[in-house]
Amino acid sequence: MSTKFRYTPGDIIQDQCKPFIKVLTTEAKRHRCDNCFVSNAHLGCCQGCHRMYYCDQECQKEDWKNGHRFECTSIAFKTYRGANLQLMFQLFRTWATLKKPGIGDKPCVLYDGSTKTFNTLMSHQSKHMENASLVQDCAYIVIKLSQEDPSVTLGLFMKYFGIMQTNAFTIRNENESERIGLGLYMEPSIFNHSCKPTAAFHWMNGVEMQIRAVGPILEGEEPCISYMGSLMSREERREELLRRYNFVCNCPKCKTWSDSGVDYKNVYFLLTTLIDPVTVGRLKWRQLVKLHSELVPILESIYYRYDDRVTNQFKRMADYAMTGGRDKEIPEAELASLIRDTEERLLITYGPEHAHYKEFNVNLGRLNCSAIPYPPVLA
Ligand SMILES: [Zn+2]
Ligand SMILES: [Zn+2]
Ligand SMILES: [Zn+2]
Repeated sequence: MSTKFRYTPGDIIQDQCKPFIKVLTTEAKRHRCDNCFVSNAHLGCCQGCHRMYYCDQECQKEDWKNGHRFECTSIAFKTYRGANLQLMFQLFRTWATLKKPGIGDKPCVLYDGSTKTFNTLMSHQSKHMENASLVQDCAYIVIKLSQEDPSVTLGLFMKYFGIMQTNAFTIRNENESERIGLGLYMEPSIFNHSCKPTAAFHWMNGVEMQIRAVGPILEGEEPCISYMGSLMSREERREELLRRYNFVCNCPKCKTWSDSGVDYKNVYFLLTTLIDPVTVGRLKWRQLVKLHSELVPILESIYYRYDDRVTNQFKRMADYAMTGGRDKEIPEAELASLIRDTEERLLITYGPEHAHYKEFNVNLGRLNCSAIPYPPVLA
């Protein structure tokens, strides 16, 4: 797969991708709507199954259409009491989605004009069959459901599980602080992995995924995303990718081992120090700047300049500076330059519509206001 287009950092490659299948995490259930995944304190419970929670009738109707109509009676509260709930919701929704005739073979058009169908996605089913407790959990659901739908077999449900495990994304909330669900997106499932990705994805408007270029993508080159979030050495990355996705990574970074000189323990230490609010609260601004200046060049050597991991580090620094920084004696010029740099990075990595950029602007507004002294009291 290649593209005749050429992308530069900040270009949108895929926009408003909607999940083909989505399931909330059990932790997010009852706090977030099962349809739009938005956090809501006043959710209504589906009176058919007492398992699904929605913002309103509109969300309920949409989810009904997307598959709940097929699972509502079967999934009802009384049954499946001893089931692994996360697995149950995931398998049921996959089964329910595929109940619509022909949907498994319905082609989905990808950004480069090629097509893909659910039934052609990789499942690595035989590998998952070796996991005895997973097979047991799955069999519990299959035995019950097959009484109602004889087409349900252990093999079919293990294939469904495998497809989700291999292709689905962990959905995070917009500011990325929370794992809220699992989503299978057809369009992004075409993107291959690179340990130095040229494209990055994030969520907007609840469950819509956007993919943007964060590195230069030349004509004929395919954009790659990263399947893993955390910082790891080549050995650790390869091990994790093999375990989770069944391939040995041969991306340019792994092939040339361009990061062989990077001390990942130190990178991890720097990053965790700068993320932890308690530690940060104890440090002086100068000390924070020292750690930041040590971390950024390393990050920019292992990722592209506009990779979300680099941009997020700038945003953290700008947030500290703008919200708690006034008593940290930050020189005006230094603050202005940090703000300029952060804004430029946020606009390219996430764009002006993303929650990160909006939050940055709110903090900036507060900073400007508090910087203006109050006028003298009128007599
Ligand atoms: Zn909703
Ligand atoms: Zn229901
Ligand atoms: Zn790699």
